[in-house]
Amino acid sequence: MAHKKDIRELKVELLCRGARIAKNNVNAPRRKAGAGPAAGGAFIFGGTVANVPTMSWFVSRSPFIVEEACGKYFLTTSSGHSIEVKFPDPKFYDMRTADGIPYKKIALLHGVNCLATTTIQTCVYWHTHKRCKFCAIEISLQENTTIAKKKPEDVAEVAIAAMKLNGVRHVTLTTGTTATSDKGIYHLSAVANAIKNATNLPIHAQFEPPKDLNIIGKLYDAVDTVGIHVESFDRDVLSDVAPCKAEMFEHIIDAWRYSVDMFGENQVSSYVIVGLGESDKSVIEGSKFLAEMGVYPYVVPLRPIPGSQMEHEMPPNPERMKRLYAEIAEILHETGMSWRKCRAGCVKCRACSALPDFER
Ligand code: SF4
Repeated sequence: MAHKKDIRELKVELLCRGARIAKNNVNAPRRKAGAGPAAGGAFIFGGTVANVPTMSWFVSRSPFIVEEACGKYFLTTSSGHSIEVKFPDPKFYDMRTADGIPYKKIALLHGVNCLATTTIQTCVYWHTHKRCKFCAIEISLQENTTIAKKKPEDVAEVAIAAMKLNGVRHVTLTTGTTATSDKGIYHLSAVANAIKNATNLPIHAQFEPPKDLNIIGKLYDAVDTVGIHVESFDRDVLSDVAPCKAEMFEHIIDAWRYSVDMFGENQVSSYVIVGLGESDKSVIEGSKFLAEMGVYPYVVPLRPIPGSQMEHEMPPNPERMKRLYAEIAEILHETGMSWRKCRAGCVKCRACSALPDFER
């Protein structure tokens, strides 16, 4: 099982099928909702990391099960193979700010060494028909597992602790879209500046592009990489699943170009979700379009998060994902794009996509 090809294929299957957690494994990861890889957690195995669904409906059908033996965890498949798996141990989760806010309501450990938070946990589209159907940003607010707007000084305090106690090496900041013209960028900038001043960690920021692209420049001093996520290159699919993004498709392209000029090639990324009803051609041509522009196509399988409007959907077939990853990895090679060149964020974390694992 230790072969690189086996490991990357196992990662794809885990991303698409999830894993069951044996009842005695109280420490195995579960996180119910949020803007990122919710309803699961990071599995570390074979030199890689995967964000594995453990709570979605389809997990009960997964051939993978995590069991404990002699104080270690093992991931076992229905065919009887077994591999040791480790889970991060976020030691800073038990701490609180002077105001009594638990650190884990302020930021979370993603992957192996990435600190992540949603700086504003509400979205202007949430109560409208333009809301993204796959998103669960306000679910964790309803469940009181996070707070609506994180204070810059609180996130910086958590970052210091996460760096010391868990060896955090970079930070991912995302935001719900605000009703203001900056779309949440000013608050992202304030949080990023506070973290940078306190830790000097590389920082990634994700946002909807504002009408005035010059506002992105507010991030330049503290932020190293940015994510502007189109999610799908199939315009019909996008209109159905993420109407707010479909409306600004051309503007997103302008924002990628603007951001590559500012932050450099390989330092801008876009999620591309597979399993929304699009064709392989749309995923491959869209990824090629991004890579040729200097934007890393962060290709991920659909993650039907409980509480989202797509919670009852099924992730794509892992065999389809493997074919797509193999083909897009060649495009990355030809265009000189690689996760290894990225300074911070999801591409560097690589827990939610197996594309980095398929790179040569
Ligand atoms: S890839 Fe991004 S969203 Fe996924 S776990 Fe890593 S930082 Fe979080």
